Amino acid sequence: MFDVIVVGARCAGASLAMLLARSGHRVALIDRASFPSDTMSTHFMWQRGAARLHKWELLDRLEARGCAPIRKITFDVGPVQLSGVGPAVAGAANTYCPRRTVLDALLVEAAVESGADLIEGFVVDELLWSEGRVVGVKGHHRGHAESSNSSLRARIVVGADGLHSAVATAVGARAYRGHRALTGVYYSYWSGLTGLGASFHARPGRLILVWPTNDELTCIYVAWPHEEFRQVRKDAEHNFHAALDLVPGLRDAVASAPREQRFVGTDDLPNLYRTSAGPGWALAGDAGHHKDPSTGMGMSDAFVGAELLAEAIHDGLVGLRPMDDALADYQHHRDVLTANGFELSLSTARLAPLSTRLEAFYRIAADQPKVVCQIFGVLGGSIPIGDVYPGAQQPADNRSPAY
Ligand SMILES: Cc1cc2nc3c(=O)[nH]c(=O)nc-3n(C[C@H](O)[C@H](O)[C@H](O)COP(=O)(O)OP(=O)(O)OC[C@H]3O[C@@H](n4cnc5c(N)ncnc54)[C@H](O)[C@@H]3O)c2cc1C
Repeated sequence: MFDVIVVGARCAGASLAMLLARSGHRVALIDRASFPSDTMSTHFMWQRGAARLHKWELLDRLEARGCAPIRKITFDVGPVQLSGVGPAVAGAANTYCPRRTVLDALLVEAAVESGADLIEGFVVDELLWSEGRVVGVKGHHRGHAESSNSSLRARIVVGADGLHSAVATAVGARAYRGHRALTGVYYSYWSGLTGLGASFHARPGRLILVWPTNDELTCIYVAWPHEEFRQVRKDAEHNFHAALDLVPGLRDAVASAPREQRFVGTDDLPNLYRTSAGPGWALAGDAGHHKDPSTGMGMSDAFVGAELLAEAIHDGLVGLRPMDDALADYQHHRDVLTANGFELSLSTARLAPLSTRLEAFYRIAADQPKVVCQIFGVLGGSIPIGDVYPGAQQPADNRSPAY
């Protein structure tokens, strides 16, 4: 019998398992994958995410695994370019771009070192229930027949099993604040492009991201409007290179560099929250809240949510608060803390042309390093948009600003 079973062992699940194990709880960390392994995701991490790794004493370890800090980003909106980096968040001054093969393995390793029991290659098929509460999971080892099912029991089961969460489906978690998918994306990796640095290029109908990552590779990501993506898929490579033409010199630089991996693409990018707490269960990370990746906030939000949920579950397990109340508080706080980023992601993913008002603002800001720093703080989700952008609406509860 475990205190907690966590299904899914990446940014949300491995962090949560680590934090709970560090608080002395008996945790099973389950994933159908084994580690190290990749997943469909690029990996830009703002200071908000790096601050959690720093607090958990994992940031130095990440750097030691070949993930260099990114100290300068170019934000290029066409007629204006801003260069800088956002303000430090709780001791984390820089941004990072760790390959998921490196980051997720490091988190899993930290969970195991902290005392969590890792069960890799195990697919959770269904939940066990007793008197209306979730009390465990049933599943099978990958490569074995589903008939060779085994069960594990715990006081709480957490679904940190991603957008298509089996746990969310099994508990019937309700979606809210849903918004249709806005973009479709392709990305890949090139060697020999380290001189490009890190940049974010917004053009009407396109978003192009360039990030240096582990092994001296550069990850390049292009987003198109969701409704164009079916057409884009017909010749992804050609359309990808055509998009790079929107950034002077980028297409030629990329054409002369070796591409090291296949193109990865998806338009399965809905924007939604799900009810994330109920009797004996909770949802963490993408399972409970998913948004367009254009702003690169998913991993940082997964860390923030894992920290909130670990605190709530700990309080419930040791009797500081009734468990169901603690889990409900977790959902409320997660929604508050992710609301700015959700709205910013929606507005970025619309890939709208730059308004004359914003262009004027960026032109004035470009000569003011302090304002540029704050703009990066907004993009990274550490400063509310209403504090920086003129005319941005900031509701009284600071939850959903919209420009
Ligand atoms: C194209 C793309 C680009 C992105 N770029 C960025 C970026 O630059 N920066 C950023 O911060 N975020 C980015 N994101 C978002 C980021 O990938 C997610 O927010 C993040 O991975 C969420 O982590 P998670 O732990 O919740 O879920 P996941 O990373 O999805 O992990 C879920 C885990 O659950 C396991 N699992 C699922 N079902 C079962 C089951 N039934 N039994 C056992 N195990 C199971 C899976 O094997 C998986 O390992 C991007 C996403 C996409 C799609």
